Amino acid sequence: MAIQWFPGHMNKARKDLAERVKDIDVVIEMLDARLPASSANPMIARMTRGKPALKILNKQDLADPAITQVWLDYYCAKPGTRAIALDAGERAPVTKLVSACRALAPNRGGLEKPLRVLICGIPNVGKSTLINSLTGRRIAKTGNEPGITKGQQRILLADDFELVDTPGMLWPKIEVEEGGYNLAASGAVGRNALDEEEVVLELLRYLMKHYTSLLQERYNVGDIEGWQDFEVLEQIGRRRGAMLGGGRVNIQKAAEIVLTDFRAGSIGPITLERPDEWKAWEKAARER
Ligand code: GDP
Repeated sequence: MAIQWFPGHMNKARKDLAERVKDIDVVIEMLDARLPASSANPMIARMTRGKPALKILNKQDLADPAITQVWLDYYCAKPGTRAIALDAGERAPVTKLVSACRALAPNRGGLEKPLRVLICGIPNVGKSTLINSLTGRRIAKTGNEPGITKGQQRILLADDFELVDTPGMLWPKIEVEEGGYNLAASGAVGRNALDEEEVVLELLRYLMKHYTSLLQERYNVGDIEGWQDFEVLEQIGRRRGAMLGGGRVNIQKAAEIVLTDFRAGSIGPITLERPDEWKAWEKAARER
Protein backbone atom coordinates (compact mmCIF):
# COMPACT_ATOMS: atom_id res chain seq x y z
CA MET A 1 0.00 0.00 0.00
CA ALA A 2 1.34 3.42 -0.89
CA ILE A 3 0.11 6.25 1.28
CA GLN A 4 -0.94 9.21 -0.79
CA TRP A 5 -1.88 12.55 0.64
CA PHE A 6 -2.56 15.42 -1.69
CA PRO A 7 -4.78 18.12 -0.24
CA GLY A 8 -5.97 20.61 -2.83
CA HIS A 9 -4.20 23.71 -1.58
CA MET A 10 -0.87 22.60 -2.99
CA ASN A 11 -1.18 25.07 -5.84
CA LYS A 12 -1.88 27.98 -3.56
CA ALA A 13 1.07 27.03 -1.38
CA ARG A 14 3.25 26.90 -4.48
CA LYS A 15 2.21 30.37 -5.59
CA ASP A 16 2.67 31.84 -2.10
CA LEU A 17 6.13 30.37 -1.89
CA ALA A 18 7.14 31.61 -5.36
CA GLU A 19 6.03 35.13 -4.40
CA ARG A 20 7.86 35.09 -1.12
CA VAL A 21 11.10 33.56 -2.17
CA LYS A 22 12.12 36.42 -4.50
CA ASP A 23 13.61 38.78 -1.93
CA ILE A 24 14.66 36.17 0.57
CA ASP A 25 18.30 35.69 1.55
CA VAL A 26 18.10 32.36 3.36
CA VAL A 27 15.45 29.63 3.28
CA ILE A 28 14.98 27.66 6.47
CA GLU A 29 13.32 24.31 6.09
CA MET A 30 12.22 22.66 9.30
CA LEU A 31 12.51 18.89 9.21
CA ASP A 32 11.58 16.21 11.69
CA ALA A 33 14.88 14.87 13.03
CA ARG A 34 13.37 11.37 13.19
CA LEU A 35 12.66 11.42 9.45
CA PRO A 36 14.58 14.27 7.85
CA ALA A 37 14.22 13.14 4.24
CA SER A 38 10.59 12.04 4.46
CA SER A 39 9.55 15.26 6.15
CA ALA A 40 11.19 17.41 3.48
CA ASN A 41 8.98 18.93 0.84
CA PRO A 42 10.53 18.39 -2.61
CA MET A 43 8.69 21.47 -3.85
CA ILE A 44 10.61 23.66 -1.40
CA ALA A 45 13.89 22.28 -2.70
CA ARG A 46 12.90 22.88 -6.32
CA MET A 47 11.56 26.38 -5.78
CA THR A 48 14.40 27.64 -3.64
CA ARG A 49 17.27 26.18 -5.63
CA GLY A 50 20.35 28.39 -5.46
CA LYS A 51 19.28 30.13 -2.23
CA PRO A 52 21.36 29.56 0.87
CA ALA A 53 19.55 26.90 2.89
CA LEU A 54 19.35 26.16 6.59
CA LYS A 55 17.92 22.78 7.57
CA ILE A 56 16.60 22.61 11.10
CA LEU A 57 16.37 19.06 12.39
CA ASN A 58 13.64 19.66 14.90
CA LYS A 59 12.35 17.40 17.70
CA GLN A 60 15.90 16.19 18.20
CA ASP A 61 14.84 15.08 21.70
CA LEU A 62 12.91 12.22 20.03
CA ALA A 63 15.63 11.25 17.55
CA ASP A 64 18.70 9.04 17.78
CA PRO A 65 21.54 11.51 18.49
CA ALA A 66 24.15 9.53 16.54
CA ILE A 67 21.96 9.49 13.43
CA THR A 68 21.06 13.16 13.86
CA GLN A 69 24.78 13.84 13.62
CA VAL A 70 24.98 11.74 10.44
CA TRP A 71 22.19 13.86 8.91
CA LEU A 72 23.78 17.13 10.03
CA ASP A 73 27.03 16.13 8.33
CA TYR A 74 25.11 15.05 5.25
CA TYR A 75 23.37 18.42 4.86
CA CYS A 76 26.43 20.48 5.74
CA ALA A 77 28.36 18.76 2.95
CA LYS A 78 25.98 20.27 0.39
CA PRO A 79 27.01 23.61 -1.10
CA GLY A 80 25.28 26.65 0.39
CA THR A 81 23.68 24.55 3.08
CA ARG A 82 23.95 24.39 6.85
CA ALA A 83 22.07 22.32 9.36
CA ILE A 84 21.35 22.57 13.06
CA ALA A 85 19.42 20.34 15.43
CA LEU A 86 16.84 21.82 17.77
CA ASP A 87 14.01 20.89 20.07
CA ALA A 88 11.41 22.73 22.05
CA GLY A 89 13.62 22.56 25.15
CA GLU A 90 16.38 24.61 23.52
CA ARG A 91 17.20 27.60 25.71
CA ALA A 92 18.59 29.93 23.07
CA PRO A 93 17.05 29.00 19.72
CA VAL A 94 17.41 32.58 18.49
CA THR A 95 21.18 32.55 18.89
CA LYS A 96 21.57 29.23 17.09
CA LEU A 97 19.26 30.16 14.25
CA VAL A 98 20.51 33.71 13.72
CA SER A 99 24.18 32.78 13.71
CA ALA A 100 23.62 29.91 11.26
CA CYS A 101 21.74 32.27 8.90
CA ARG A 102 24.36 35.00 9.17
CA ALA A 103 27.06 32.51 8.28
CA LEU A 104 25.05 31.51 5.20
CA ALA A 105 24.61 35.09 3.96
CA PRO A 106 27.67 36.98 5.22
CA ASN A 107 27.11 39.90 2.88
CA ARG A 108 23.71 40.70 4.23
CA GLY A 109 22.80 42.24 7.55
CA GLY A 110 23.18 45.69 8.93
CA LEU A 111 20.36 48.20 8.77
CA GLU A 112 20.96 48.95 5.09
CA LYS A 113 20.40 45.39 3.98
CA PRO A 114 18.57 43.50 6.70
CA LEU A 115 18.76 39.76 6.42
CA ARG A 116 15.44 38.34 5.32
CA VAL A 117 14.85 34.70 6.11
CA LEU A 118 11.92 32.50 5.12
CA ILE A 119 10.88 29.63 7.35
CA CYS A 120 8.87 26.71 6.03
CA GLY A 121 8.07 23.14 6.88
CA ILE A 122 5.34 20.53 6.62
CA PRO A 123 2.56 20.61 9.23
CA ASN A 124 3.32 19.13 12.64
CA VAL A 125 7.09 19.58 12.34
CA GLY A 126 7.01 22.08 15.21
CA LYS A 127 7.11 25.39 13.36
CA SER A 128 4.54 27.20 15.54
CA THR A 129 6.22 25.99 18.70
CA LEU A 130 9.58 27.27 17.50
CA ILE A 131 8.20 30.59 16.32
CA ASN A 132 6.45 31.11 19.64
CA SER A 133 9.63 30.44 21.54
CA LEU A 134 11.64 32.67 19.19
CA THR A 135 9.34 35.62 19.43
CA GLY A 136 8.22 36.24 22.92
CA ARG A 137 6.54 39.47 21.99
CA ARG A 138 8.62 40.43 19.02
CA ILE A 139 6.14 39.63 16.28
CA ALA A 140 6.07 42.55 13.87
CA LYS A 141 2.70 43.74 12.73
CA THR A 142 1.86 42.29 9.36
CA GLY A 143 1.93 45.09 6.90
CA ASN A 144 1.23 46.27 3.40
CA GLU A 145 4.80 47.27 2.72
CA PRO A 146 6.22 46.34 -0.67
CA GLY A 147 7.36 42.76 -0.81
CA ILE A 148 5.34 41.74 2.20
CA THR A 149 2.24 39.81 1.39
CA LYS A 150 -0.80 40.91 3.32
CA GLY A 151 -1.35 38.70 6.30
CA GLN A 152 2.21 37.49 6.26
CA GLN A 153 3.89 37.15 9.60
CA ARG A 154 7.21 38.95 10.04
CA ILE A 155 9.28 38.40 13.09
CA LEU A 156 12.16 40.68 13.95
CA LEU A 157 14.80 38.60 15.66
CA ALA A 158 17.29 41.47 15.61
CA ASP A 159 17.21 45.00 14.19
CA ASP A 160 18.64 43.70 10.95
CA PHE A 161 17.22 40.19 10.95
CA GLU A 162 13.73 39.41 9.81
CA LEU A 163 12.05 36.03 9.78
CA VAL A 164 9.17 35.59 7.35
CA ASP A 165 6.71 32.82 8.03
CA THR A 166 4.83 30.85 5.39
CA PRO A 167 1.28 30.59 6.63
CA GLY A 168 0.20 28.15 3.91
CA MET A 169 0.25 24.43 4.29
CA LEU A 170 3.15 22.74 2.61
CA TRP A 171 2.33 19.10 2.56
CA PRO A 172 4.93 16.47 1.90
CA LYS A 173 4.70 14.92 -1.51
CA ILE A 174 5.09 11.25 -0.97
CA GLU A 175 7.22 9.80 -3.73
CA VAL A 176 8.97 7.18 -1.66
CA GLU A 177 6.81 4.53 -0.05
CA GLU A 178 8.94 4.17 3.06
CA GLY A 179 8.73 7.95 3.46
CA GLY A 180 4.94 7.70 3.56
CA TYR A 181 5.12 5.12 6.32
CA ASN A 182 7.58 7.19 8.29
CA LEU A 183 5.40 10.29 8.02
CA ALA A 184 2.44 8.24 9.13
CA ALA A 185 4.34 6.79 12.08
CA SER A 186 5.36 10.28 13.17
CA GLY A 187 1.76 11.48 13.03
CA ALA A 188 2.38 13.99 10.23
CA VAL A 189 -0.30 12.57 7.94
CA GLY A 190 -3.93 12.33 8.91
CA ARG A 191 -5.41 9.25 10.47
CA ASN A 192 -7.69 8.38 7.58
CA ALA A 193 -4.75 8.41 5.16
CA LEU A 194 -3.26 5.28 6.59
CA ASP A 195 -3.82 1.77 7.72
CA GLU A 196 -2.58 1.88 11.26
CA GLU A 197 -1.64 -1.77 11.45
CA GLU A 198 0.45 -1.64 8.29
CA VAL A 199 2.20 1.49 9.52
CA VAL A 200 3.02 -0.20 12.80
CA LEU A 201 4.29 -3.39 11.14
CA GLU A 202 6.58 -1.29 8.95
CA LEU A 203 7.74 0.62 12.03
CA LEU A 204 8.37 -2.61 13.92
CA ARG A 205 10.41 -4.05 11.06
CA TYR A 206 12.65 -0.98 11.22
CA LEU A 207 12.94 -1.11 15.00
CA MET A 208 13.70 -4.85 14.90
CA LYS A 209 16.54 -4.07 12.50
CA HIS A 210 18.08 -1.06 14.24
CA TYR A 211 16.68 -0.75 17.76
CA THR A 212 16.04 -4.30 19.05
CA SER A 213 17.27 -3.56 22.55
CA LEU A 214 14.96 -0.54 22.91
CA LEU A 215 12.01 -2.77 21.92
CA GLN A 216 13.08 -5.42 24.41
CA GLU A 217 13.46 -2.91 27.22
CA ARG A 218 10.17 -1.15 26.58
CA TYR A 219 7.99 -4.21 26.06
CA ASN A 220 9.91 -7.01 27.72
CA VAL A 221 9.46 -9.12 24.60
CA GLY A 222 12.52 -11.28 25.19
CA ASP A 223 14.69 -12.61 22.40
CA ILE A 224 12.95 -11.75 19.13
CA GLU A 225 15.75 -12.89 16.84
CA GLY A 226 14.21 -14.40 13.70
CA TRP A 227 10.66 -13.34 14.60
CA GLN A 228 8.19 -11.95 12.10
CA ASP A 229 6.89 -8.39 12.54
CA PHE A 230 3.33 -9.53 13.38
CA GLU A 231 4.65 -11.99 15.97
CA VAL A 232 6.42 -9.14 17.72
CA LEU A 233 3.26 -7.04 17.58
CA GLU A 234 1.27 -9.89 19.14
CA GLN A 235 3.86 -10.34 21.84
CA ILE A 236 3.71 -6.61 22.65
CA GLY A 237 -0.09 -6.92 22.87
CA ARG A 238 0.22 -9.86 25.27
CA ARG A 239 2.79 -8.09 27.42
CA ARG A 240 0.60 -5.01 27.60
CA GLY A 241 -2.64 -6.87 28.28
CA ALA A 242 -4.23 -5.91 24.96
CA MET A 243 -6.34 -9.05 24.79
CA LEU A 244 -9.64 -10.11 23.31
CA GLY A 245 -11.57 -13.12 24.62
CA GLY A 246 -10.17 -16.61 24.12
CA GLY A 247 -6.53 -15.64 24.51
CA ARG A 248 -6.47 -13.68 21.26
CA VAL A 249 -4.47 -10.48 21.05
CA ASN A 250 -6.25 -7.23 20.28
CA ILE A 251 -4.01 -6.28 17.37
CA GLN A 252 -5.54 -2.87 16.86
CA LYS A 253 -4.97 -1.97 20.48
CA ALA A 254 -1.40 -3.28 20.33
CA ALA A 255 -0.76 -1.19 17.22
CA GLU A 256 -2.12 1.91 18.96
CA ILE A 257 0.15 1.30 21.95
CA VAL A 258 3.23 1.11 19.74
CA LEU A 259 2.29 4.22 17.74
CA THR A 260 1.47 6.28 20.81
CA ASP A 261 4.72 5.20 22.47
CA PHE A 262 6.78 5.95 19.38
CA ARG A 263 5.29 9.42 18.92
CA ALA A 264 5.88 10.30 22.56
CA GLY A 265 9.46 9.05 22.41
CA SER A 266 8.64 6.43 25.07
CA ILE A 267 10.41 3.60 23.23
CA GLY A 268 13.58 5.68 23.24
CA PRO A 269 15.35 8.07 20.89
CA ILE A 270 14.74 6.68 17.42
CA THR A 271 15.42 7.83 13.87
CA LEU A 272 13.56 6.05 11.09
CA GLU A 273 15.91 6.70 8.19
CA ARG A 274 19.55 7.26 7.37
CA PRO A 275 20.94 9.00 4.29
CA ASP A 276 22.15 5.80 2.64
CA GLU A 277 18.83 4.05 3.29
CA TRP A 278 16.91 6.99 1.91
CA LYS A 279 18.98 6.91 -1.29
CA ALA A 280 18.26 3.21 -1.74
CA TRP A 281 14.51 3.75 -1.15
CA GLU A 282 14.47 6.59 -3.66
CA LYS A 283 16.24 4.45 -6.22
CA ALA A 284 13.76 1.61 -5.70
CA ALA A 285 10.85 4.06 -6.02
CA ARG A 286 12.20 5.31 -9.35
CA GLU A 287 12.56 1.78 -10.67
CA ARG A 288 9.12 0.70 -9.53
P1 GDP B 1 3.47 22.98 13.28
O1 GDP B 1 2.27 22.34 12.67
O2 GDP B 1 4.70 22.76 12.47
O3 GDP B 1 3.28 24.42 13.63
O4 GDP B 1 3.76 22.18 14.63
P2 GDP B 1 3.48 22.55 16.15
O5 GDP B 1 4.41 23.61 16.63
O6 GDP B 1 2.01 22.80 16.32
O7 GDP B 1 3.91 21.19 16.86
C1 GDP B 1 3.31 19.94 16.54
C2 GDP B 1 3.43 19.01 17.75
O8 GDP B 1 4.79 18.70 17.98
C3 GDP B 1 2.90 19.63 19.03
O9 GDP B 1 2.27 18.60 19.76
C4 GDP B 1 4.15 20.10 19.73
O10 GDP B 1 4.01 20.13 21.13
C5 GDP B 1 5.14 19.04 19.32
N1 GDP B 1 6.53 19.55 19.30
C6 GDP B 1 6.97 20.71 18.72
N2 GDP B 1 8.30 20.84 18.86
C7 GDP B 1 8.73 19.73 19.53
C8 GDP B 1 10.02 19.27 19.96
O11 GDP B 1 11.07 19.87 19.75
N3 GDP B 1 10.04 18.06 20.60
C9 GDP B 1 8.91 17.33 20.83
N4 GDP B 1 9.04 16.17 21.47
N5 GDP B 1 7.69 17.74 20.45
C10 GDP B 1 7.59 18.92 19.80
